[in-house]
Amino acid sequence: MRTAFYALALVAGPALAAPADDVSEARLKARVERQVAFGTRHTLSTQDDPKRGIGAARTWAEADFRESCGDAVTIVKPETVITGKRVPQPTRLMDVLAIQRGTERPDEVVIVEGHLDSRRSDPLDATGDSPGANDDASGTALVLESARVLCHRHFAGTIVYAVVSGEEQGLYGGKLLADYARAQHWTVKAVLNNDIVGNSRGSDGLVDHTHVRVFSEGPRGNATPALAEAQRLNGGENDSPSRNLSRYIAGLADPALAVRQIWRADRMGRGGDHLPFEEAGYPAVRFTVAVENYDAQHQDVRKADGHDYGDTIDKMDFAYLAKVTRLNVRALAALAAAPLAPTADTKGAVQTFTTLSWKPVPGAEGYAVWRRRTDAPGWEEKVLTTSGTTVRLDGVRADDWFFGVSAIAADGSASPIASALPGGGF
Ligand SMILES: [Zn+2]
Repeated sequence: MRTAFYALALVAGPALAAPADDVSEARLKARVERQVAFGTRHTLSTQDDPKRGIGAARTWAEADFRESCGDAVTIVKPETVITGKRVPQPTRLMDVLAIQRGTERPDEVVIVEGHLDSRRSDPLDATGDSPGANDDASGTALVLESARVLCHRHFAGTIVYAVVSGEEQGLYGGKLLADYARAQHWTVKAVLNNDIVGNSRGSDGLVDHTHVRVFSEGPRGNATPALAEAQRLNGGENDSPSRNLSRYIAGLADPALAVRQIWRADRMGRGGDHLPFEEAGYPAVRFTVAVENYDAQHQDVRKADGHDYGDTIDKMDFAYLAKVTRLNVRALAALAAAPLAPTADTKGAVQTFTTLSWKPVPGAEGYAVWRRRTDAPGWEEKVLTTSGTTVRLDGVRADDWFFGVSAIAADGSASPIASALPGGGF
């Protein structure tokens, strides 16, 4: 309950009210059905057939954004040409972004992403049917529905709704988007990657529709040897911005869907489109169902050995997908309303007091200082709030605590807590 306590105390902004309630299970289902109807959305599939393939799917996603949001978003389509192990011929790759510009700090950006492309058992088979209902029509539907319910509201920061491609061939669309963010000089506050978010029954029959997993890296993907050494000596291995983003999201969950934080970058031996962001130094997490159906993933649709293979709609749970979407909407609204988390530093060697200092961030009216014991998983105690950027805590031995700082806007919207430890800065 520690996490819930901290969230209630921390995230009190008005931005959290209402929009999550607008999420429509029926609209999510219709979008998954529409994507499956493209036959295949393989990255190497046809790009000029109006009914089948990745090109038609991309055109549909863009039209969906325009229908929901009109002039409230700007559509941008970064593209590149890729080749690689799973891309034998040079292939045009394109992401579809809907950008909802922030009213006060448009360069501060929160990204929600899902991948449009699908695959079969053979990763190079670009012609056979490949429904990809859960992987990742579910994530794409979530992105489009999040845009629909949020795009006519106003937030201080920018929200980017991203439908990416090339994930199954090697995370190309995520990389393209991370490169685009850098080229635009965006300050990326958070990336919410949604990949396989629409089933509640596993391949062994295990059912769980009351949890979603949120994956985050520990040590940063862009850590230098110097940072790794500083963390080895002073801590911070469990306090990357991605990890604190995970803690923040867990605090936004409601009783219908709890967050199971998974403190590893992704599922064992696997990857996703949040990884290129973490490698570029941006805070990012992956949302995935509590229980995966491995018979559905990366499989041709068929029956064999008593198993029902293939990523088809009948294996999905749209009420569950709606719950995951609501959590994403709450997180997007909270993050877009809040200031950037401040980069903070702890001083306390060989003394009986602790000094914390941080750089001021735009849009912050105040700051909350938090602490936890070094073996505690989540933030335990709000020590104080202040409008300044330095505090001295007498009688507090810094060796025995981890500290963090959250920035708070005038409306009460609070940022994630950034750890005042090596590598903790967002
Ligand atoms: Zn996927």
